[in-house]
Amino acid sequence: MLWILLAALASAGTLRATVDVNADGYKLVDAVVLPGDLRHHKEGAIEVLDVDGTVLTTASIPDPRLRSIILPEGGGQTAVLERGRITVEVPWPNDAATLRLNQMSLVPRPPPEDGAIALQTTGPSQDRLDLIFLGDGYNVDQQQDFAEDVDWIVAYLLGIEPYNAYTSLLNIWRVDTISNDSGVSHDEDGLSRDTAYDCYYGCAGIERLVCCDDGLVIGAVNAALPAAEGVMVLINDPEYGGAGGFNYATSYVGEADGRQVAAHELGHSLVGLWDEYGYGYESTQGEGPNCSADANGHWDDWVGTGPVDAFQECSYVNYYRPTENECMMRSLSDDYCPVCRQEAVLSIYERVPTLITAASPASGTAVDATDVASPIEVEVIGADSGMDIVWMLEGEEVGTGASFDPHCTGLNGALSVRVSDPTQWVRGPDVDVLEQSAGDWEITSVPCDLTDTGGESTVGELLSCACDSGSPAGGALGWLLISVLVFRRRRS
Ligand SMILES: [Zn+2]
Repeated sequence: MLWILLAALASAGTLRATVDVNADGYKLVDAVVLPGDLRHHKEGAIEVLDVDGTVLTTASIPDPRLRSIILPEGGGQTAVLERGRITVEVPWPNDAATLRLNQMSLVPRPPPEDGAIALQTTGPSQDRLDLIFLGDGYNVDQQQDFAEDVDWIVAYLLGIEPYNAYTSLLNIWRVDTISNDSGVSHDEDGLSRDTAYDCYYGCAGIERLVCCDDGLVIGAVNAALPAAEGVMVLINDPEYGGAGGFNYATSYVGEADGRQVAAHELGHSLVGLWDEYGYGYESTQGEGPNCSADANGHWDDWVGTGPVDAFQECSYVNYYRPTENECMMRSLSDDYCPVCRQEAVLSIYERVPTLITAASPASGTAVDATDVASPIEVEVIGADSGMDIVWMLEGEEVGTGASFDPHCTGLNGALSVRVSDPTQWVRGPDVDVLEQSAGDWEITSVPCDLTDTGGESTVGELLSCACDSGSPAGGALGWLLISVLVFRRRRS
């Protein structure tokens, strides 16, 4: 029974449900089924059912009402709104029929055609991290400003780590939306503007906290690119402000701070990081990847590395953060602390289902390399600085690189390949996600027979042995012998 369920899950898609949350509880608003396995969620409130009403998968719903803004003078401010809307991704097996939340059921719709403008696509959305930018308060004459603001923020993000090192695993998109007014509303000043996503300063009475109409933002993403994992709304306003939460981030675009605010707020919505500054009160709401209820932290692998230890106050007074003040999740900065950087790398890999994207010939194929060059090649994705690729024959390393040719090696048996990210940014048990193996290929080959030459051969005869066909071992040996012969000829 178990393997049947696993097989069904393996070929599954992902359900993206849109949920309203307020004091009365949860309400289903929309649902769409997307290809691929987009995210992994904890057990929880949303249930996916088959036609018989059997629960197949579940997912929890984070609280979308929580919003916070980091401040330039240090610290930040937070608020819990009266209501919020959020999207939740749930595995959607092939035999799934409906989803249920409380007593309400919904049959999901198919995904829309992509309506977003691609700024950078490095692969299909189902195996890349997709970041989408919306703009609010850009009027009809300011659409070029929006495009330039997005480029400015993207250039910054792709220049900081770990995003720089994993640029090739990111897709970046833009949705152009015209607001009737330029700039956004300022509730604290009673200034109301007519904009596409109804974004406003003074959210929950906090001057710099910028919230939008969640339904308008999520609706635009669901219509353009529901596979988006990170949503950033740029606010066309010179006043410092923004917000991060579980669903989307907002950031103003003024001066240098705007980029750092955007990076910090994306740390929430893209990576799931918590604020490392304090909200001034306690909580017992579980732990964040960078906030621990344990006074020693839950990042043992990093303690003692540079500034990493455990420092009190991390979102909540009774939680602990990894560094005193070395992280953009605590104060405006270009850098994550090592714990947050690790989480960002893991969150990128979480969206990459396989490191080995293609193998030729397919693994499981028998490769007879006795007579001709027979390279086995793999395509891999991962760190832009390069992945370690090691070819193994029954536990012994026999080659490196994206291609291995058994021809002339004299190797016989089960060949496999191991791909791993050599990054130093991930430690502990999580390193598993940085490694993947493929194979076997049953290879047959013979050593290049050089003994027949008896040292009397000519260069021409050596070439007919075909040992220079590109296999690392055979090729190098061939060239060595050719060099020796050429050298001997020159002397004679
Ligand atoms: Zn941090």
